[in-house]
Amino acid sequence: MHNGANAIVVDPGDAVPIQAKLKELNLKLEAILVTHHHADHVGGVDTLRNATGARVYGPAFEVIPEPVQRVGAGERVSVLGIDFAVMEVPGHTAGHIAYFHQGSDLHPTPLLFCGDTLFSGGCGRLFEGTPAQMLTSLTMLSQLPDDTLVCCAHEYTLSNLKFALAVDAANSDLIAYEANCQAQRKANIPTIPSRMGIEKKINPFLRSHTASVAASVQQYNQTAQSATDIFAALREWKNNFR
Ligand SMILES: [Zn+2]
Repeated sequence: MHNGANAIVVDPGDAVPIQAKLKELNLKLEAILVTHHHADHVGGVDTLRNATGARVYGPAFEVIPEPVQRVGAGERVSVLGIDFAVMEVPGHTAGHIAYFHQGSDLHPTPLLFCGDTLFSGGCGRLFEGTPAQMLTSLTMLSQLPDDTLVCCAHEYTLSNLKFALAVDAANSDLIAYEANCQAQRKANIPTIPSRMGIEKKINPFLRSHTASVAASVQQYNQTAQSATDIFAALREWKNNFR
């Protein structure tokens, strides 16, 4: 994002397209925000930092290209005159963080950079964290304001919604959202950023506590009873879904 003169990037996996865009728009890169250590999120950090002198923020407990200013829960990051609160959201990786701006005069809409924790219609795979951690992380994100722009790191929406419809087939909000996203992708328009309000209505990983999603998961795995077990079974079902 940028303000016409300065820019920030989040999770630059590749420096090349970012450098091209900075040049095209004549922007100075002020800062790089990193949510977790995966290569497709940090691959461009060194090149961009060395070329621009941008400062880098990243999670406290993960291996990120140094030097990086490490930030954790409750700390704040101020970039482009916008204040972000750091949230710890383990699950996809053990030290994954997210950046949340609650809205201000400069940027009235709340803004969330959540990396690979929450996607539109889905969530990240559990590479390092437990289902209980991921459920806690997603529950925390779901309590952010409904108009929060959910800036996730990948356009996985249509594939996520195919699974969501298998889980939550009678959800009319989901059916309408899927049709809308299909039309957007046909017109080559990104479906992201999404909004937290719609994610709470359509994303099965934010809805594993609802009767309809829980009943559907229990058909997949009859032993799942607790909230954590139902969430874990839902994630496993998605891992095996074709
Ligand atoms: Zn990742």
